[in-house]
Amino acid sequence: MTDTAARPSETATRADVTTFGHFIAGEWCDGVSGATFESRNPADTRELVGRFQQGSAADVGMAIRAAEAALPMWRRTPAPKRGEVLYRFGALMAEHKERLAQAMTREMGKVIAEARGDVQEGIDIAFLMAGEGRRMFGDTVPSELPDKWAMSIRQPIGIAGIITPWNFPIAIPCWKMMPALVAGNTVVFKPASDTPHCAALLVELMAEAGFPAGTVNLVTGAGAEVGNAIVESPDVGVVSFTGASATGKGIAERAGRRLKRLSLELGGKNAIVVLADADLDLATDGILWSAFGTTGQRCTAASRVVVERPVLDELLARLESRASRLRLGRGEDPATDVGPLISAAAVEKVAGYVAIGRDEGELITGGAAANGGDLAHGHFFEPTIFSNVKPMDRIAQEEIFGPVLSIVPVGSYDEAVTVVNQTRYGLSSSVFTRDANAAFRAMRDFETGLVYVNAGTIGAETHLPFGGWKETGNGHREAGHAALDTYTEWKSIYVDFSGRLQRAQIDNQ
Ligand code: NAD
Repeated sequence: MTDTAARPSETATRADVTTFGHFIAGEWCDGVSGATFESRNPADTRELVGRFQQGSAADVGMAIRAAEAALPMWRRTPAPKRGEVLYRFGALMAEHKERLAQAMTREMGKVIAEARGDVQEGIDIAFLMAGEGRRMFGDTVPSELPDKWAMSIRQPIGIAGIITPWNFPIAIPCWKMMPALVAGNTVVFKPASDTPHCAALLVELMAEAGFPAGTVNLVTGAGAEVGNAIVESPDVGVVSFTGASATGKGIAERAGRRLKRLSLELGGKNAIVVLADADLDLATDGILWSAFGTTGQRCTAASRVVVERPVLDELLARLESRASRLRLGRGEDPATDVGPLISAAAVEKVAGYVAIGRDEGELITGGAAANGGDLAHGHFFEPTIFSNVKPMDRIAQEEIFGPVLSIVPVGSYDEAVTVVNQTRYGLSSSVFTRDANAAFRAMRDFETGLVYVNAGTIGAETHLPFGGWKETGNGHREAGHAALDTYTEWKSIYVDFSGRLQRAQIDNQ
């Protein structure tokens, strides 16, 4: 392994250094092939963020060996002591919050306030999971036999493969790595190829916080090569993946053949219901924030608004007027409301769905890529709203992952519930109403992992479980203490201090 690649910290100050390494066994290093790829600013693609190692299965193999070598020491480190490293990491992230947020905005485009929020989610989960080092509760229960105790404890699985998307490039890796590490696993981390710089900065801080060499390993590169090698390795005991449903299904098949523990967080088609009695100003605020925040590129973004007909026209007028005035631009500019999409391919995909939407619904505002003036070199798309969309139309069913909102009019609460649930996804939903009974019915009836009342579909906090029903996932949850379930095995322990053989279910009858 060579150490010729630049440390991320050096590149921050030296304009001539733009190549970043993998991080394996505590060292920044070049990949075996020597090939690199570029990361560019989606708001202005002339701006090169850096070059990164185009990783291979051989690089993943080295990372796995490093994770394996570190495992015995790390799993034997008392969990409260592991937690202390997480505390230091959380504190370091807080110290570097602005630097991380600026780097994120530059690499993937989200507006700076949201980038700060993304980093904050990472800090929050680091502190939450640091505390788990002193909890990590199991059960201590009475035995059915005298002079015998019974208890259950959590133990680490081993090596955790962490595969992440680009849309929350700090938060999601932290949501996965913090529970994995506090539970005593070691990690091989493969970030999205659109956000390798954020990943490098994150891992650099992890090393500085004191995660021992080999506990955290970073390998950059393509999903089909690096991600696949992690999934296929018999030595990786658990894989945690967030990304597109199609990718997740393929991973599930391959991991399933090896009976590997797998946590999947996949796509969404989230709905906001606006009942006739709703506060329409509040609903408008919630819809705009949920539909066009992060340029619609959140798994929890609202892409459907299900509205009772008596308030349809009034709501549409407010949405049209506000959405058409949203300012597109570089995310660093505090006046910007909506940043760029991640890539040219994303612009093409969104434009494709807008073409479909023109046949299915009625275009209210937006509908085109935006490339005038300062936007000329970025991947911008106008905030777009279609009205009179039918529940089974493609734009109401398929994840577009861009600033496109479908308005579906309905005649009653019951019809609204049917529409909300008439999708293969089940991540987030919300209802705007002043009727407490209707709000409670919605909390009961919506088939989603997250439900919001009088708020948009986004805004999860790290101490409650996060994840979706149906094809949004496979039943696992991130965040909260539920996250530990992904990264631990249960061990039930029986201690007999009677001094004689006592047979459960037999000697006590
Ligand atoms: P993606 O599936 O294209 O990529 C996700 C990650 O998987 C990347 O690191 C990629 O390199 C890797 N990958 C790709 N092919 C692979 C393969 N064959 N084997 C192993 N790894 C592979 O997704 P994306 O475009 O980065 O992210 C957008 C998607 O993520 C959206 O569908 C969004 O809804 C979803 N998402 C879900 C959540 C959630 O919590 N449910 C959160 C954020 C994003």
